[in-house]
Amino acid sequence: MSDNTNETTTAAEYDFHPMWESLGMDVPAHDMLLGAVGQMFGDVFLAQENRPASTDYLNQVVAGIHSGRIKEMLDKKASGEAKKIVGSFCLYVPEEIVIAAGGIPVGLCSGADWATDKVEEHLPRATCPLIKSFAGFKLGSVCPYIESSDLVIGENTCDGKKKAYEFMATQVNMYTVDIPNVHNAQTLELWKGEVRKLAERVEQETGQKITAESLKAAIKLANDKRRALQRLSATRAADPAPISGLDSLLTVQAAFMDDAERLTGAINAMADECEQRAADGVGVAPKGAKRILYTGTPMAVPNWKLFNIIEKAGGVVVGEEACTGSRYYKDLVDESGETVDEMLDAIAERYFGINCAIFTPNDGRIEDIVRMARELNADGIIDCSLQFCTLYEMESFTVEKAAEQAGIPFMHITTDYANEDAGQLTTRIEAFLEML
Ligand code: SF4
Ligand code: SF4
Repeated sequence: MSDNTNETTTAAEYDFHPMWESLGMDVPAHDMLLGAVGQMFGDVFLAQENRPASTDYLNQVVAGIHSGRIKEMLDKKASGEAKKIVGSFCLYVPEEIVIAAGGIPVGLCSGADWATDKVEEHLPRATCPLIKSFAGFKLGSVCPYIESSDLVIGENTCDGKKKAYEFMATQVNMYTVDIPNVHNAQTLELWKGEVRKLAERVEQETGQKITAESLKAAIKLANDKRRALQRLSATRAADPAPISGLDSLLTVQAAFMDDAERLTGAINAMADECEQRAADGVGVAPKGAKRILYTGTPMAVPNWKLFNIIEKAGGVVVGEEACTGSRYYKDLVDESGETVDEMLDAIAERYFGINCAIFTPNDGRIEDIVRMARELNADGIIDCSLQFCTLYEMESFTVEKAAEQAGIPFMHITTDYANEDAGQLTTRIEAFLEML
């Protein structure tokens, strides 16, 4: 199937059970998971009013997320169009390298609790839900992305992930990249070395050498996707906001899974529509709805809990300073390099600018939060850490101080993937929106 088609095959059109079985998945458990996600998607996304018509693309992505998209990737591998499927968990893994070596990059971060009992036989109970989730999806055999990945690339970021990857390496073919924790000239050189080692490892896996031509094309492909996301994000400065935070979050979540060229076309169509809506004063929420900048830990599919609570309470999320948000698209890779070496350096430099809380100090993130809140006309900032994420919990105090100095109301939330705290969160968020 061509990259430019608008839709992948859906479960209504084709029986995917043999494919899931061939991947070694627990098919009955997976049916249950898909049913639950489908129900949640309907309640959260399809229940929204005044969505831009172009968000139908997102409905298609979700409809094919575990089915048509997987088949499409496996078909490409079978036909030789792609060599290998390469999974990763973090924004620090450059997709350009995977694409240039003939691989298909997929994001594996998981946003739902699964097989928790099995996970706690290997990892401590007091572990961040995102880490428990990817381990649970593997142990429960319900993630077709993990099961179809020929290589999984981890990274030494937070302590939890670092140690969890030692366990994951017993389950999947794994390679782990080392990420520095401080930004300076020496650590940038170390990081450039890591990027080169990664490129060699991926080439070894795919059996395809990265050439100047393939790397240039991959850089352009990823940058085009980022440019489209930047366009869409800029429309959200308008009041009323033309698109919801939920749909914007889902757009970035989709970017980790869908075909880059198809996705870029769809996001540009969303940006066209949202630019028009902004010019016409058409919004997803009424003019004057309280505008929230989200910052904090990433929100992997299907973790829509917090955004749903904020927007059902009458607020509208107008930006995300997060790895499932602006950090994914705000910076481009320099396109002027001509040799593989120059381009690998440009890739390393671009990725080194991702302001993850593993870095100390992490002033760039704080500056981004205040800048984004101003540019997007946010009335308040909601900073959220997943439970047991020491890094983002600790950094929340610095974020609070910066928000206070900038005169922007601030709220910190610690939560997980369960629904137990939904009532309490709703009460706190309603009170926050009221005082804005
Ligand atoms: S928050 Fe840090 S560790 Fe997590 S995906 Fe982003 S860059 Fe990677
Ligand atoms: S949310 Fe925090 S603890 Fe969890 S994987 Fe990300 S950085 Fe690590």
